[in-house]
Amino acid sequence: MTQLSGALKQATPVLATHGKGVNLYDEAGRRYLDFTAGIGVTSTGHCHPKVVAAAQEQVGKLIHAQYTTVMHQPLLTLTERLGEVLPSGLDRLFFANSGSEAVEAALRLARQATGRPNIVVFHGGFHGRTVATASLTTSHTRYSAGFAPLMAGVHVSPFPNPTYYGWSVEQATEFALKELDHTLQTLSQPNETAAFLVEPVLGEGGYVPGNTEFFAGLRDRADKYGILLVFDEVQTGWGRTGKFWAQEHFAVTPDILVTAKGIGSGFPLSGIAAPAALMEKVWPGSQGGTYGANAVACAAAIATLDVIQEEKLVDNAAERGAQLTDALRATASKYDAIHDVRGLGLMIGNEFRDADGNPDGATAGAVQREAADRGLLLLNCGPWGEVVRFIPALVVNDKEVDEAAALWAESVNAVLQ
Ligand code: PMP
Repeated sequence: MTQLSGALKQATPVLATHGKGVNLYDEAGRRYLDFTAGIGVTSTGHCHPKVVAAAQEQVGKLIHAQYTTVMHQPLLTLTERLGEVLPSGLDRLFFANSGSEAVEAALRLARQATGRPNIVVFHGGFHGRTVATASLTTSHTRYSAGFAPLMAGVHVSPFPNPTYYGWSVEQATEFALKELDHTLQTLSQPNETAAFLVEPVLGEGGYVPGNTEFFAGLRDRADKYGILLVFDEVQTGWGRTGKFWAQEHFAVTPDILVTAKGIGSGFPLSGIAAPAALMEKVWPGSQGGTYGANAVACAAAIATLDVIQEEKLVDNAAERGAQLTDALRATASKYDAIHDVRGLGLMIGNEFRDADGNPDGATAGAVQREAADRGLLLLNCGPWGEVVRFIPALVVNDKEVDEAAALWAESVNAVLQ
C-alpha cells in the first residue's frame, strides 16, 4: 500500500474535509476553530465566496498560461493592483509559487545587482526549505541538518530578541547592531555583502517582533555600504500584523520585499517587489519557472485584495489582535509557565518556560494538543517549540476571538492546574 512520507509531521489529528471562514470541519462534521490558517495563508478565511467565485470564473477561462510563453490578464491586473498596497518606489514585480522560491529570487537579484557574494541573515529567521533558502534559515537545525554542504556565503548576526536574552528592547537592539558591525568587520566585509535578509517579525523563530531602532540601524548600514535590505514578509504581509506590511510598524522601506502566503488566500503564489533601477539589473532569463503567477492564483489574489479592502481586514487584524492579546495576557497572568505573550496584530505567540526558566516545548506541545482536542487548532514555533502561536484568518470576528480565548484558557488550565 502506498503511504505518505514520514517526513510530513502533522501538528493536529484532523482530517479536514471543508472550511468556511475561520472554521474547519472533519468527516464527522466536527467543527474546529482554525487559528493556524494553513500557516498564515488563508488570509480571507477558508473559501471566501468572492475568492471562490474569482477562481471558478478563471478556471473556466484559462487555467495555465506560462508567463514566459504568453501573457495573461490576471497577472497584468494583479501587477497593476499591487501598486495600491506596495511601498512607493517598489514598482517592479516578479512572481513565483512559494515563499522559498521568492526568497531565492531576491537572493539571485541581490547577488546579480551588487556583484557581491555574501548574505547576512539574522538569528532565528526562517526563509524556506530549498537548499539555498535552508542555508539562509537559522530558526532550527532541522531545516538544514543532514543535507550539507549548504550554500556558501551566508553569515548570521543576532536578531534583537529581548525575551530570549532577558534584556530590554534597547539592550537587545544595541547588542544586535553592535554585533552586525562586528560581523561586517570580521566575517563579511561590506563590499562582499550583497544583502541583509530579515523578517520584520521572526515567525518560525518564535514570533519575536523587531523594532524601529533596529531596522533604522539596518537601513543606515545598508545605505552606507551599498548593501541591499531585503524584508521577508512571507508570513507578516497582507495585513497579518494589523498593517498591510509589517515594515509599516517600523517606518522603514526595504530594497526588496518578499511576499507569499496571504497573497492568494490559499492558492500558491509568491513574489518580490523592487525599484525599477534595481530590478532591471537582473540578468535576462535568470528568473522564471513553469508555474509562476498561475492565472487562477492571480485571479484569487486580485479577489483577496478586493476582500481585504472592502471588509477592512487590516483594521480588523489590528482590532481583533488587540482583543486576543488582552485575553491571552489575562490567562498568562495566572500561570508562571507562560513567560511571555507577544506579537503584532493577528500574529501572537505564547512562550512557555519551565520552573528553571528554560524554554518549555513539552508543556507548549501539551497545551496545543489539549486545545486541538477541544476544537481549537494552533501551531507551535520557536527553537524548542516553546511558543504556541495564534494566527487566524483576518476575517475572524470578536465572538470567535472570545471563543478561542476561552478554549485556550481551558486548555492551559487542564495542562497546568
Ligand atoms: N519565509 C518565511 C518568513 C516563512 O514563514 C516561510 C514559510 N513558513 C517561508 C519563507 C517559506 O515559504 P514556503 O513554505 O511557501 O516556501
